[in-house]
Amino acid sequence: MVISGIVIVGGGICGLATALALHRKGYESLVVERADSLRTSGADTISVYTNGWRALDQLGVGKDLRETALFLCGGEEFRVLNKGDIIRTLANNLPPNTIRFGIDIVDVELDPITSDPVLQLRDGNVIKAKVVIGCDGVESVVAKWLRLKATKLLPYCGVRGFTNYPNGHDLGNEILRLSGDQATLSRTPIDDKLVYWLLTRKWTPQDSRDSKDTRLIRDSTLKYIKDFPEEVIEMINNSELGSLTLHRMRFHTPWDLLIGNFRKGKVTVAGDAMHVMIPLLGQSASLGLEDSIVLARCLDQEIYKLAGPEESRRKQVMQENKNVEAAFDRYVKERRMRLLKISTQSYLTGLLQMTSSSMVKIGLLLLLLILFGKSISHAKYDCGRL
Ligand SMILES: Cc1cc2nc3c(=O)[nH]c(=O)nc-3n(C[C@H](O)[C@H](O)[C@H](O)COP(=O)(O)OP(=O)(O)OC[C@H]3O[C@@H](n4cnc5c(N)ncnc54)[C@H](O)[C@@H]3O)c2cc1C
Repeated sequence: MVISGIVIVGGGICGLATALALHRKGYESLVVERADSLRTSGADTISVYTNGWRALDQLGVGKDLRETALFLCGGEEFRVLNKGDIIRTLANNLPPNTIRFGIDIVDVELDPITSDPVLQLRDGNVIKAKVVIGCDGVESVVAKWLRLKATKLLPYCGVRGFTNYPNGHDLGNEILRLSGDQATLSRTPIDDKLVYWLLTRKWTPQDSRDSKDTRLIRDSTLKYIKDFPEEVIEMINNSELGSLTLHRMRFHTPWDLLIGNFRKGKVTVAGDAMHVMIPLLGQSASLGLEDSIVLARCLDQEIYKLAGPEESRRKQVMQENKNVEAAFDRYVKERRMRLLKISTQSYLTGLLQMTSSSMVKIGLLLLLLILFGKSISHAKYDCGRL
């Protein structure tokens, strides 16, 4: 049995960002991760707009990460980062021994006497925590325990990959978006040699098999882009096999986010465990970064009410777990409207891509315009100071 204070389940972007945000405010936490090491391999990329950069700056890692990716054209600060770079940078800024690997949480219970959360591990052990923050992604055990609605599956999938141009590409720093008969594609330069692409298309039952073999992913992708320009076909043909991924799209509906009960006792959730969006606005990971800032700030503000400014007193109040529930309620209240707004926008954008009826398309476009104005306005959001 391990006894710990704040336990964060999941060492992805959101879990590590939450640990770092707490650390910057002077609170220790333990991150427990199922994998045996940081998930830094693979070609997952994350598009980060101004809102995400604001959160990364608050965490003190924006400067280092800006050096890893090109500034792309557009009104806002926008870069596409290698997910591994974000994870590595966040982890490198944490105190030693903050992350424990190879710990797979299978359930949460409440201690019958103290009502403190107890995490059940796959190997039969338990971790007695005082506070639990579930950052365990799409299939979150913590979200399930909170009885949040499971994600819904879309009949669409996203294929992602990198293509390396050893002699450099001449694509500038602009994103290209193309629509064909069977698929839509976006192409984004990461630096002067590396290009990231994302193709969205209908999901077929065969994709379950293909998704496990990168050669099959590439070959099936080529079948969907026969009507695309030759340079795009070449890009996909020359993509780095190890970088290819194929995922069926999932999402939480806006009404799930409106009514979801995101706290029970001293347990809450953040990141994909709380909100999965249709990945068309490129905002999911940045929302997780915003969560981390708001959560740490709310916790600190509630503790400040009891302890005042003295750091040792604040640490003591935290150890006694006073005001944690009020802090989590404050965090959930602050996040709910932001999440509702952006999930509605991504939901309507998803419907727009999927419908073939011109009338419905016009209706959806009007609705998006009335509700959200400029499509990129969500990227101007400021989650505030840590
Ligand atoms: C096709 C596609 C394209 C996308 N594009 C973008 C984009 O351009 N921009 C963007 O911002 N986002 C994008 N996303 C989404 C983005 O990848 C996620 O929102 C983000 O990675 C979520 O971070 P997280 O830390 O909340 O969860 P995760 O990254 O899922 O991390 C969860 C961690 O918890 C661990 N874990 C899970 N269960 C347990 C357990 N029981 N016990 C212990 N550990 C556990 C996992 O091993 C993992 O390390 C995209 C997603 C898809 C599918």
